[in-house]
This record gives sequence, structure tokens and C-alpha cells, in this order.
Amino acid sequence: MAEKRDYYEVLGVDKSSSDDEIKKAYRKAAKKYHPDLHPGDKEAEANFKEVNEAYEVLSDKDKKQRYDQFGHAGVDPNYGGGAGGYGSPFGQDIDFSDIFSSVFGGFGGFSGRRSSNPNAPRRGTDVETTVYISFEEAAMGCKKTVEYQAVSQCSECNGTGAHKGTQAKTCPTCSGRGQVTINQRTPFGVVQTSRACDTCKGQGKIIEKPCRECNGAGRVRRKKSVEITIPAGISDEQVLNVSGRGNSGTNGGPAGDLHVYIGVRPHPVFERRGDDIWCELPITFSQAALGGEVTVPTLYGKVSYNIHEGTQPNDIFKLKGKGVQHLNSKSKGDQYVKIVIEVPKNLSSKQRELIRELDKSSTDKNYSKRKTFKQKLKDLF
Ligand SMILES: [Zn+2]
Ligand SMILES: [Zn+2]
Repeated sequence: MAEKRDYYEVLGVDKSSSDDEIKKAYRKAAKKYHPDLHPGDKEAEANFKEVNEAYEVLSDKDKKQRYDQFGHAGVDPNYGGGAGGYGSPFGQDIDFSDIFSSVFGGFGGFSGRRSSNPNAPRRGTDVETTVYISFEEAAMGCKKTVEYQAVSQCSECNGTGAHKGTQAKTCPTCSGRGQVTINQRTPFGVVQTSRACDTCKGQGKIIEKPCRECNGAGRVRRKKSVEITIPAGISDEQVLNVSGRGNSGTNGGPAGDLHVYIGVRPHPVFERRGDDIWCELPITFSQAALGGEVTVPTLYGKVSYNIHEGTQPNDIFKLKGKGVQHLNSKSKGDQYVKIVIEVPKNLSSKQRELIRELDKSSTDKNYSKRKTFKQKLKDLF
């Protein structure tokens, strides 16, 4: 493996950053490099992978602690030509806590919240992914096939880690317990301590001929996909939980969950504020003065609207029920349309003449704001 960048640097955070800050930084970076937004861009893909890898470590309390203490080698035994033999193609999905507690046993600091029994069932960890949908899909709801990477049991060895046709041996030193008990004579009497078994590195078993598919880990990281239903009214950055679709558990433990972050692409015309939709509608100077029918785009197709005579810039009208459907309800928000009045440019001499004529015939009655303004000036000076 080549030189790896510091995980904190990758996410743009530091060691003192809170879990929330790390999560935020991750989401921002993942969004920036997401393959959906850069199809075919190898560099973005590599960045995306790097960001995910960094987050996988920094979001996991145990892994983060090991990383802080030992750097990349603490979370990836293949790093720098280390132990090897356990790495998945990505090197960081396998639970190394047992190996580490034996390698660094006696250091302290690895006080395992996990059971020390290597054969105890463990729930798989959760996986995060982001899916990008259009503005309309968010408003109307949609079905999406989400692709992501997760660890599952190796099918070649059925999770045993042993080469096809062979079996992992129960460790003779610890009889499969993964731990050995030591009696130490101290001035206070005999103290019994236990530590991870050296022979099997705490695994309780020894694989003589590792499975070629998973290098003996019993687990492999694979591309997976699942179809999810995204409900109408979902917003940018909301998360959908897909239960049991995360990394698979070990020793019969349940799988973790898949968290799908929703990214909503911006719309060229509409802007969403809660469940209301806002848009601007440019009309001509004469339309504004004379009023009349205009066509307004909505999520549900074009609608006609009658603007009144003397419509002013920034006037807002409301189209009831043309907004986004509320999440988990059938009612909808509204659409607000803001008037933009375009003053004509590049006039012909004929047009200029007409406007001059209009101006000549105008009085204060036509321009009430100007009239009030003039009044105010008079009072001032
Ligand atoms: Zn295998
Ligand atoms: Zn052992």
C-alpha cells in the first residue's frame, strides 16, 4: 500500500473534533466526491474511497482510539507490510480488536467493551451511503436502487476462514477460549489475570490453510444493492434506515443497518423552503402595468394565473396546494411566486417614442410611490 494520508487531514478535522463534527465533515466531503456527481472521474472516485475509509475509522470509537495511538498500522495490519493475511481488499472491515488486545496486551487502553469470548455472536456494524435524487423525486417520492459496500460472510469458506475442504483447528493452547489465565505470585498473594492467547491471537482457533477468497478473515467486502422507497416530501440530508443491510455479524450475530443519506439536487427554477416551493416569474413591464394571464410552472404542470393591473416588482402570489407533499401526510405545501419585472432594453426608435408619449401623459396618479417620496423630500428640506 502506498503512503496513506492522515485520516484527520482527509476529513479536514482534528483529534479534538467531536463525533458530530466528524460526521458533518464526512458528509460534506462524501457529497463533494460522490461518484454520482462525477461519473467516470477516477480521481473523485479515489477521493470518495479515501473519505469513506477515513470515516469508517474515525466514526468507530475503538478504531479511532487505535488509530490515534498507532496510526494506520493500528487499523490496517497490511499497512507498511505488517502482519498481513487478514486484509480484505480495503483492509479495514475486520474486527482486529482481539488481535490488538493480544499484540498490545498489558498496555491497557484496550479495555474491551466487547466480549472476550471469540465465539460470542456479534452484531455487524452499520454502513452509510448517500443517494442523490432530483428535486421532483424528493417532492413526489420514488424508488431507488442503492449501491454500497458492505462486509458479508465469505461464501467460499462459509465464514470459517479455512481453505475449502479444510477446517479451522481449535487452538490447543487456550482450548478455543481465546484467552489464557496466568497465576502471578505477588507480595499480596497469587493474582489471577487473563490475557489474549498468543498462539491463536485471541481467535480461539488456528487456520492452517487460509481461504483464498477472504485470506482467512471469513468475511469479504462486496458491492451490494438494495431497492428503497423514498417517501414523498423527503428533504436534503435526511437519513433513511434500512435495517439489517449493513455489515454482516459474526458468529451468527445479526447484521448492522444501512443508513442512506439523501442528497437532493437543486432545481433550475424551484427552490424549496420546508414544504413550500418558491420561484420567480419574470414578466414584462407592460404585463405588469396592464395585468393579465400568465403561465406559471408548478411541480404538477403549468397553471394559468391572472395578475392584476399595476403589479409591482417583488409582489408575491400564492398557489395553494402546489407545494411539496408533507412527509407522512397527504396534504401539501404551497407555491409562492415572486414577480420580477423586466424593463425593456434595446428599444427601437418607434418604441422609444411610444414610451416617451406614455411618460408625457403620466401624472402622480400613475406613480403613487414617487408621489409619496417627493412629499417626504419636501418635508426634509
Ligand atoms: Zn473465505
Ligand atoms: Zn489460543
